[in-house]
Amino acid sequence: MFFFKDESEKTGKEVIKNLYYFSENQMLDCNQYIIEDQSSNELILFDAGNGISMKGLFKGMEKFKLNYENITKVFLTHEHVDHVLGVYKLMKLLEDNPPEIFAYGETAKILEKGEERKILPVFFGLTARRFEVEIIPLKINDLSHLKEIEISPEFKFEIIYTPGHSLGSICYYESEKKVLIPGDLVFIGGSFGRYDFPGGSLNTLINSIKNVNNLDVKYLLPGHMGISDQGNQQIAYSYRMIQSINSFY
Ligand SMILES: [Zn+2]
Repeated sequence: MFFFKDESEKTGKEVIKNLYYFSENQMLDCNQYIIEDQSSNELILFDAGNGISMKGLFKGMEKFKLNYENITKVFLTHEHVDHVLGVYKLMKLLEDNPPEIFAYGETAKILEKGEERKILPVFFGLTARRFEVEIIPLKINDLSHLKEIEISPEFKFEIIYTPGHSLGSICYYESEKKVLIPGDLVFIGGSFGRYDFPGGSLNTLINSIKNVNNLDVKYLLPGHMGISDQGNQQIAYSYRMIQSINSFY
């Protein structure tokens, strides 16, 4: 499986001022987003990727003069391998000044216990060692008691619990800038997250997409595939698609 060795540069783009997108570059990786806090020179990372792709992220960041040593916080969308394994790599690389990790409910619990089987469900047939990381218990800031969190003076995100793809799935929503980071809830082109992993549920997923469909979104920044500046239309499209699938059952 050569793709595990893919450390090629993650292509970056500044979506809006101080918010960057770095696209996934291989199987079992994810899109990542960075907010630059120019007042403190800190970088805030959304989702950690699979670990192997971390070097590719750093290469992509260099193009924008973003230094990974300035990453002080990591916000996770959910507990799956392709979104969280990079955390362990980052904690090791930045061990003198480790970033704070934020996650919601079940995701926070899994990472605090270091439950490899919940991060890498058995049917993937993979272990963390294949990704060159070791899953260890981590101290996590649980977001489940928060409604919103100020990430920088410019960005304040609402925390929206959106299970269905997994038990610990959330969306981050910046209402002023109309930015939604939905993890694997919805993607562009009418797609939506899988609901057949442990803890997944079609009905719950439909309900979560319905909730998000009520938000005013311009920038839709999902965990996979591309991004869109037609967020409302894209979410509505995914909502229509999942309803039509549901009508078969
Ligand atoms: Zn996932």
